[in-house]
Amino acid sequence: MADWLATGGPRHYRSPMLAELPEVVHGFFTRQGGVSLGAYHSLNVSLAVGDGQEAVAENLGRMRQTLGLGALAGAAQVHGGRAAVITSPDQARLAALPEVDILVTTVPGLGLLIKQADCQAVMFFDPVNRVVANVHAGWRGQGIDILGETVRLLQSRFGTRPADLYAAIGPSLGPCCAEFRNFRREFPPALWTYQVRPTYFDLWRLSRDQLTAAGLLPSHLDLAGLCTRCGADDFYSYRRDKVTGRQGAIIALKA
Ligand SMILES: [Zn+2]
Repeated sequence: MADWLATGGPRHYRSPMLAELPEVVHGFFTRQGGVSLGAYHSLNVSLAVGDGQEAVAENLGRMRQTLGLGALAGAAQVHGGRAAVITSPDQARLAALPEVDILVTTVPGLGLLIKQADCQAVMFFDPVNRVVANVHAGWRGQGIDILGETVRLLQSRFGTRPADLYAAIGPSLGPCCAEFRNFRREFPPALWTYQVRPTYFDLWRLSRDQLTAAGLLPSHLDLAGLCTRCGADDFYSYRRDKVTGRQGAIIALKA
């Protein structure tokens, strides 16, 4: 069930499940409402795609203000399985983080930024230990069960019980468009069952299954069900456009 917002800021989608939880703020932002031009029109959050530094800074500032956050933390994402765990505000400078795809924090008011254009941003919240995480889950990350790795990291670092965790999967490549012609080479055989018709895969169901296998309750999972490649007005899609921007997904503990 979509829950769209554009109240005084850039248009973004909210998970109805996370929106019910008063301890967190979050937004899966679209490409609308920013200042970037051309192929990057308009709310691009990535400096690695050819867009200008000033435009990206303005876009990030608008998103931060929309959610009422003091700071954002992002990283150079590399489709790996490494994590950054931020437990003090000093660690929280944007782009100061190393090459990681799992962001975790206990710092209230610090927004965790994942940049994507077809890959999934998956947001986690542990209300018992007051921890949030945001994960960049592309097909390579799914191949190494990055979502399960995130749950196990939260368990070992914070004592998180998987049954307490909430997880929301944002707009990303849907089964309508997730074609992998070389899947025999690219995916472990265990993932081949997610083929919905020849060479097309349901990466949404894969994430749900990986999360429930890690111990999350189905009632604590939320899937946006919005395909980035189909949604040209709302979303950047690398698959569709190649030269394009990245939309931002942000979650934070409320300050
Ligand atoms: Zn699609």
